[in-house]
Amino acid sequence: MTDRPTHIWTPIDYARDGKQVDWLHLPHSVTRSAYGTIAIPAAVVKNGEGPTALFTAGNHGDEYEGQVALCNLIRELKPERIRGRVIMIPALNLPAAMAGTRTSPLDEGNLNRSFPGNPDATPTPAIAHYVDSVLFPIADLFHDLHSGGGSLAYVQFASTHAGNNPEVHARGLAALRAFAAPVSLVWRAGSDARYSPHAAMKRGVPALGGEFGGGGSLSRRGLAIVEEGLERLLRHMGIVEGVVEPRPTRMMEVPTRAHFVHAPTAGVFEPAVELGDSVKAGDLCGRVHFVDDPARTPVDCRFAADGVVVCQRHPARVERGDCVAHTAVDVA
Ligand code: CA
Repeated sequence: MTDRPTHIWTPIDYARDGKQVDWLHLPHSVTRSAYGTIAIPAAVVKNGEGPTALFTAGNHGDEYEGQVALCNLIRELKPERIRGRVIMIPALNLPAAMAGTRTSPLDEGNLNRSFPGNPDATPTPAIAHYVDSVLFPIADLFHDLHSGGGSLAYVQFASTHAGNNPEVHARGLAALRAFAAPVSLVWRAGSDARYSPHAAMKRGVPALGGEFGGGGSLSRRGLAIVEEGLERLLRHMGIVEGVVEPRPTRMMEVPTRAHFVHAPTAGVFEPAVELGDSVKAGDLCGRVHFVDDPARTPVDCRFAADGVVVCQRHPARVERGDCVAHTAVDVA
């Protein structure tokens, strides 16, 4: 966390009632544009006093359900329908979103490994710093919409991080149950302080996330889950009027590092399981084949913990250390 001010400027006045759709301008001085900016689209819809929801997507540029859901919501949400404020940024790491890549082509920055950020560094940490220092302090709930991107396929779920503040986590869990995706997952392993939800929770803001598709595609089912879930979340917060009809959701968690499987060597990965399969520790996860050396025996790769396969690598070519799968377990 830094006290240094952001360099990002915007005509948007977050305190003004009504709908504003404009841009956050991040100064980016390059040969083709000496006084140019990276113009990150942002919208705020506000009507009187009330809670603030902060919705972001395109944190990773190759994850599309949230990007499209927020574009739809920006066009559709009318100030008279709400009480409070909704801030929406559909392509948070804009250079990555425009390139269709996880990381920014400008600085190779992975926005979701850049929090709490740095205003004086390259574009990606500068964006993280703006979210952390300007938006988190005015938000009551943060939802950062993700998917598996180009390298992963996912069982679709909404998620929250356990964190180390029980009160903030409890509010996150209540929001997760209100969102009520078919699967709701708590991350106990597999993230660190550089993730956006951790930074939000450090500011006392409950933080949701979720993996609503993957493989670099746009899942129709994932988009529907996001759009329904955001409507339910706005009702849960009291921003939009209406009851949140109770809906069952399968509660799961990712307990430890041992629930992740990494490729033992480089080659072509042949999965031995499907998304949604239940597995035991020691079960075969897949095999690495050597198409340039066919006489060589493929190398087995096994699960180290019991669980349900919720994530698999999408491209078949692997390097040693690539995550090829991870599991989650049901919780009561
Ligand atoms: Ca992601």
